[in-house]
Amino acid sequence: MSKTILYVEDNTANRMLVRQVLEGVGYQVIEATDGLSGIKTAQETNPDLILMDINIPGMDGYEAATRIKSLPELSNIPIIALTAKVMAGDRERALAAGCDGYIAKPIDIDALPNQVAEFLGGMRESITVEQESAYLREYNERLVDRLEKKVQELTKANEALSHTDVMKSRFINLAAHELRTPLAAIHGYLSLLTASDSPVIAHADEKTLQVIEGVVTGVDRLRGIVQDMLDVTRIEAGTLQLRYAPIGLSFILDKIKRDFKNVVAKRQQTMIIADASHIPTMWADGERVTQILRNLVSNAVKYTPDGGTIEITVDMLGGVQTFVAEKPVQQQFVKITVGDTGVGIAPEDQERIFENFYEVRDLERHSTSKTEFMGGGAGLGLAIARGVAEAHGGSLWVESEGHDPEQCPGSKFHLILPLGQLTTD
Ligand code: ADP
Repeated sequence: MSKTILYVEDNTANRMLVRQVLEGVGYQVIEATDGLSGIKTAQETNPDLILMDINIPGMDGYEAATRIKSLPELSNIPIIALTAKVMAGDRERALAAGCDGYIAKPIDIDALPNQVAEFLGGMRESITVEQESAYLREYNERLVDRLEKKVQELTKANEALSHTDVMKSRFINLAAHELRTPLAAIHGYLSLLTASDSPVIAHADEKTLQVIEGVVTGVDRLRGIVQDMLDVTRIEAGTLQLRYAPIGLSFILDKIKRDFKNVVAKRQQTMIIADASHIPTMWADGERVTQILRNLVSNAVKYTPDGGTIEITVDMLGGVQTFVAEKPVQQQFVKITVGDTGVGIAPEDQERIFENFYEVRDLERHSTSKTEFMGGGAGLGLAIARGVAEAHGGSLWVESEGHDPEQCPGSKFHLILPLGQLTTD
C-alpha cells in the first residue's frame, strides 16, 4: 500500500508542485492549508509522514509540530519542517519544536522524493542538548509573546462584540418603543371601526368585513411582536417587573384549554391536560406564567403534524431545603411539562432555541402562522419563556431524542416554578 504524506502549506502553487512530484513516485498526498487544520487532518488521517511549512497562518509550523508531537496517537509520525532559510538556526529551531528533520526551501524537486524516502525509512536529524535547551528557551519566550498578543486581540474582539450586543439591544428597544405609539393609535381606530355599534360594520359588505378582519389579525400580530421585543430587552436588562399574586394553576390551565380549543381542533390534534387541583395556590405573576404556557403550547401545536397529541402534565417536586436569614426553609416547586408528538429537536439545538431570534430552520418560512404546521415566528418565544421562568426563580429546558419530521420523536418542555411560599421548620 502506498504511503500517505500530509503536506501543510498555504501556498497553492507549492502544494500543486509537491503533490505532482510525490504522487508521481507513488505516494498518496493529503493537504492542509494552516496549522489548526493540519493538526485536525493529521488526527483524521494518521499519515505516514508530515511535511510542515513553517510560515503558515494561525498557528505556525513550529507550534503545529509541537502540538502533533504531544498527541500520543500521532507522536511517532515523522514531521519534516520546510522553511526558506531566512534566519540562522532555523533548522535547530524546527528540531527543538519537535520536528524530526528539515528541508530548506525552495524545494529541490529532484531531491525531494529521496529525502522523503529517507525520513520514511527511519532517518532522524538531531541537535545537541545544549543547542536544544537554548532554542527551547527562545521558543518559550516567543510563545509567551504570541500568547500575550493573542489575549490582547481576543480581549479587544470581545469588547467590540459586547459593544455590538449593547447596540443591538438598544436598537430593539428603540424600534419597539417607536413602533408602539403608532400601533396603539391604529389599534384604537380599529377598535372604533369594529365596535358592535359601528356604522361601518353595520353597512359593510362581505368583502369589506374580510378586509377588516385581515387588518385586525395583522395588527394583533404586530402588537404581539412589539410586546415580545420589549419583553426581550427587559429580560436582558434584568428589569422585567413581575406582578406577584396568589394564582391557581388549574385556572391557568383551563384558560390555555379554552384558548387553544379551536386551533387544536382545526389541526385534528388531541390536547390532554392533567388535573392540577392538588397543586397548592402559587405565589407568581399569573399573566406571565400564562404567557410561558401559551408559548409552549403554541409551539407544540406548530411543530406537531395534524392528528398529533399535546399533553400537559403537572407534578409537585418535594421540598428543597435552602436557608433564609440562616433559618432552614423548605422551598417547594411545581413542574409543568408540555409534551408533543412533533418533529423533535436535534441535541445541538436544544440550548440554542432559547436564544433570542434563534430558529432552527432558515428564514424562508418566516412569519407564516402561529399555528400552521412548521409556521415560523420571530424566534423570541422561548427566550422570553425562559427569561420569565428564571425571573420567578424557576427554569425551563427541553428534552427530545432528536429532530426527525418523518418519525416525529416529539419534545418535552419542562417548566419548574417555585410555589413561592416558604415554610420554616
Ligand atoms: P418561533 O417563533 O420560531 O417559534 P421560539 O423561540 O418559540 O420561536 O422557538 C425557537 C425554535 O425552537 C423554533 O423555531 C423551532 O425550531 C424550535 N421549537 C420550539 N418548540 C418546538 C417544539 N415543540 N418542537 C420542535 N421544535 C420546536
